[in-house]
Amino acid sequence: MTLRIKNLGSGSSGNATVVEAQSGHTRSRVLIDCGLRVSELKKRLQSCDLNLVDLNAVFVTHEHSDHWGHALALCRQVGIPLWSSAGTRHAVELAGAELADLDWCQARDGVAIDLGDLQLMPFTVPHDAREPLQLCCTDGDRRLGVVTDLGHVSAHVVRALQGVHGLVLETNHDLERLRLSAYPPFLKKRISSDLGHLSNSQSADLLTRLMHPGLSMVLAAHLSERNNTPELVRAAICPVLGCAPADLPVADPAHGSAWCGV
Ligand SMILES: [Zn+2]
Ligand SMILES: [Zn+2]
Repeated sequence: MTLRIKNLGSGSSGNATVVEAQSGHTRSRVLIDCGLRVSELKKRLQSCDLNLVDLNAVFVTHEHSDHWGHALALCRQVGIPLWSSAGTRHAVELAGAELADLDWCQARDGVAIDLGDLQLMPFTVPHDAREPLQLCCTDGDRRLGVVTDLGHVSAHVVRALQGVHGLVLETNHDLERLRLSAYPPFLKKRISSDLGHLSNSQSADLLTRLMHPGLSMVLAAHLSERNNTPELVRAAICPVLGCAPADLPVADPAHGSAWCGV
């Protein structure tokens, strides 16, 4: 059995991540979030020898356009189920989206989703969306946590991620850079609020609480292009992991990441 992950693009310009579990001759793949145009998604999948039809399902974490953006177009084109919370569905319907023709499935906090070789366990996170969920994914052996839009580290999140072997970890901004940036005050306030995004030091704190000898892969993700740099992320996260800066992969908006085994 193997569990691995590849980010295809990360940050406010569009998020998409493939998680794949393989056992014997069968494989299951879920796309977490679809903030990339379908044509662009297809191009990025092809760069790792995958096609749209190789995806078995899409899980959308919340309605913000960098996550939900092109999920409907993808599901219509490929004919695969779309999983989200009822709150996320409600939010996009209020914004005018029509989901009646889709194979939409309701995801709930703490209720496992079986997708062949892959099992997803959604959990509620604090973020300024209607009912945001993030995920733990497992192939029955290894566990991977994926958390990208998180206003603060809640006890529920720490519990849900306890014991993971791999982690996609939001490292959104450097607090000092955000403070000094040209962003308008309301936006600075939103980003740094309890329902916004994790700063590098908050991410380091979450990681500290999840460290155990079996945690072997961390991928930093959802960096602000203006208020963060891979160097600042590595300076905050590598001391927690005890690794050299070059050993921490950081997902990039245009290229995502390489495949990371869990
Ligand atoms: Zn968001
Ligand atoms: Zn986001």
